[in-house]
Amino acid sequence: MNYLLKKLLYILCLICTTGLQAQQLRPEVFSLIDLDYPGLEQVRSLHQAGNNTAAAEALLAYYRQRSHINHPDVDLNHVTIGKQEQQWADDALEHTFFVHKGYQPSYNYGEDIDWQYWPVKDNELRWQLHRHKWFSPMGKAYRVSGDEKYARAWVHQYMDWILKNPLTEVDKQQYELISSGEVKGDAENVRFAWRPLEVSNRLQDQTGQFLYFLPSSAFTPEFLTEFLVNYHRHALHISANYSDTGNHLLFEAQRMIYAGAFFPEFKEAGSWRKSGIEVLNREIHLQAYPDGGHFELDPHYHLAAINIFCKALFMADVNGFRNEFPDGYLHTVEHMILFYMNLCFPDYTNPCFSDAKLGERKEEQKNYRAWSRIFPDNRQIRYMATGGKEGSLPDHLSKAFPHSGFFVFRNSWTEEATVMVLKAGPQGFWHCQPDNGTFELWFNGRNLFPDSGAYVYAGEGEVMQSRNWFRQTRVHNTLTLDGRNLETTGSVCLHWQGEGEVQTLVTENPSYEGLRHRRTVFFVDNTYFVVADEAIGNATGEVNLNYQLCEGEVQIDADRLILLSQFAGDSNVKLQCFAEKGTTLREEEGWRSTAYRQRVERTAVSFNTPKKQGDTTRFLTVIYPVKDTAQAPQLSAKFTTKTFSDNRVDIEVKVDGKSRKLSCQWQKDLRFDN
Ligand code: MG
Repeated sequence: MNYLLKKLLYILCLICTTGLQAQQLRPEVFSLIDLDYPGLEQVRSLHQAGNNTAAAEALLAYYRQRSHINHPDVDLNHVTIGKQEQQWADDALEHTFFVHKGYQPSYNYGEDIDWQYWPVKDNELRWQLHRHKWFSPMGKAYRVSGDEKYARAWVHQYMDWILKNPLTEVDKQQYELISSGEVKGDAENVRFAWRPLEVSNRLQDQTGQFLYFLPSSAFTPEFLTEFLVNYHRHALHISANYSDTGNHLLFEAQRMIYAGAFFPEFKEAGSWRKSGIEVLNREIHLQAYPDGGHFELDPHYHLAAINIFCKALFMADVNGFRNEFPDGYLHTVEHMILFYMNLCFPDYTNPCFSDAKLGERKEEQKNYRAWSRIFPDNRQIRYMATGGKEGSLPDHLSKAFPHSGFFVFRNSWTEEATVMVLKAGPQGFWHCQPDNGTFELWFNGRNLFPDSGAYVYAGEGEVMQSRNWFRQTRVHNTLTLDGRNLETTGSVCLHWQGEGEVQTLVTENPSYEGLRHRRTVFFVDNTYFVVADEAIGNATGEVNLNYQLCEGEVQIDADRLILLSQFAGDSNVKLQCFAEKGTTLREEEGWRSTAYRQRVERTAVSFNTPKKQGDTTRFLTVIYPVKDTAQAPQLSAKFTTKTFSDNRVDIEVKVDGKSRKLSCQWQKDLRFDN
C-alpha cells in the first residue's frame, strides 16, 4: 500500500472515530441519579418537561456550584504540580503515557491511541495503563496553567478509552475465565481494562479529575452525562466483581466508599458506601493477625493496607460519617501502624520481604504525619511523624509478632542501631515468598543483608522467569535442601526471649518432606548474633545454608568459611560458619532488586553439607557487625551436645578467645493459632 493511500485511510479512520468519540447526551443518566436529591430540583423539572439538554446543563451547573461534598486528597485552593507530574501531563498530550516506573521512558500509544499495545509482556504494564496515572497530573497542569489544552486532551482520551474498551457483559464465571487468561483475543482486553483493581483505581482518581476539570469549557453538559454513566458502570462492576480477598479487595472497598461519598447523587451511592465500609470492617479482622501483621506477610502491602484503611477514614471525616466505623476498626489500624513501626529500620525503610518495595524516608515520614491526624494521642506515631522532635519512643527495643511470624532484635532506635528482622510465619497470601527463616540486618546506618526483593510481578516468558528467580528460597538468608524451594511454609515459634544480655528466638519450619528446619538465633550483648541451623529428618541430599550481603566488596575465605565485608564507611560485618566436616563454601549468583526491574549484583554464598539419612545436619554462624573489619574479632563456635535435642540448644562461642556458653531450653511449643 503506498504512502498516500495509507494516509487517506488514516484520515478516514480519524474522521470516523472522532465522530464516534463526539460526546452524546446520555439521557439514561437521569435514571441513575436521584432527582429528589437536594439541589437537583431544576434538573428534575427540566427532565420531566422533556428538555434533557437543559437538564444536563442544569446538572453541570449544580456540580460547578456544589460545595457540601469535600475531597480529602484535593485542595483546589492550593493546587501544585511537581516537575515529574508536569512532564507526565505534557507527554500525555502526545499520547506518551506514564504507565509504570519500571518502564521508563514511557511508551507512546500512537496518534490513534492503541489501548491494547503491549510492548513487554509484563501484566503490570498492560493492567496499569488502565489506571490512567497521567490524568490527575493533567488535571493539576490545567489548574495551575489554566491552559485548556490539558482539559481538551483529557476529554478526548477519556472518550477514546470508553469507545475502545467496552465492558462486554460477562457473567461471573466468564469473567473468571478471562481473568485466568483462558480467553484470548478481543475479550482478553476486558481482563486488563476491567480488572476490578484497575476499575477501582479509576473510580478513586476520577473523583479528583472531576474536580480539576469541572470549570473547563471542554467539560460540556454532554460530557458530564458520558462521565457519570461511565462512572456508574465502574461502581456497578466492582459491586458485582469484588476480589475474593487480599489487598485488591481492600483497595476496591475503600474506593467504593469514595464513589458513594463523592457522588451521593447516584441512587445506589448509599449502598456503595455501606458495602465499602462493611467489606473493610470484615476484612480488617480477617486480613490482620492479632499481632497487627497483614496476612500477605509483605511489609509494603502491610503499609498499603494501613493507608487504605486510613483513606477511608479521611473520606469519612471530611464528609461527616466517621461514626459509621466502629472502634474496633480504629484500634486495629493503630495496631497495624505500631507493627509497621517496629519492623522498620532507623531510616524509615521496611525490610523487602516478599514483594515489598523499599520506600524512602521522606515518603514514609509523610505517612506517619497523616496517621498522626487520625491518632493524635498516640505518642509513638507522633515521634515517627516528627523525626523524634515530639512524642516518645516505645518502652521496648526487641519485639516478637508471633502470629504473623516477624521477630525484631533491636538494641536502639537510633541510626547507629543494630536491628535484625526475621521472617518465620504461616503460609502467607499471594505476595508472600517461600523464605521462612530469612532475615535482614541493619547496623550503624546500613542494611547489611537486604532481601533479594521482588524485581517484577507477573507476566509471560522472561518476565515470569525473572520473578521466579527473586522468589527462590535459596536467594534468601535461610536453609534449603538441594537448593530447592520450600515445599511447606508454616513456621512455628518455639521460644522467644526478647530482653537481657542474651536474647533468643527458636523457630521451626516443616520445609520439605523428611526435613524440617529449626533456626535458633542468639542476640548476644546487644552486639552480635549466633545462628544455629538444624536440618532434622530422614531426607538425604545436600543441605545448603544461604547468605547474601548487600552490594560492595566482600572478602571470601572458602577454607575457613569466612565472609569479611570491605564496605566504605562504618558499617561492616564478619560472618563465619562453623559446620560439619565436608562442608564447602560455594559462591552463588547474587542480586538485589532495588526497585521494579532494577537490580544490583551482590555477594551470595552457600555453605553446603551432604546429608545422610537420619542424621541431623547442623550449622552455626556467627554474624558480627563491626565498623571496620580490620578490627573484627577472632571467632569460633560449636554445639556442646553431640546430638540434636527436642527442646534445647547448647552452644559455646568464643570471641577473641573469650568463651561464652549460650543455652536455650523450652518446655512446650509456643504455637499460635493462626
Ligand atoms: Mg524475598
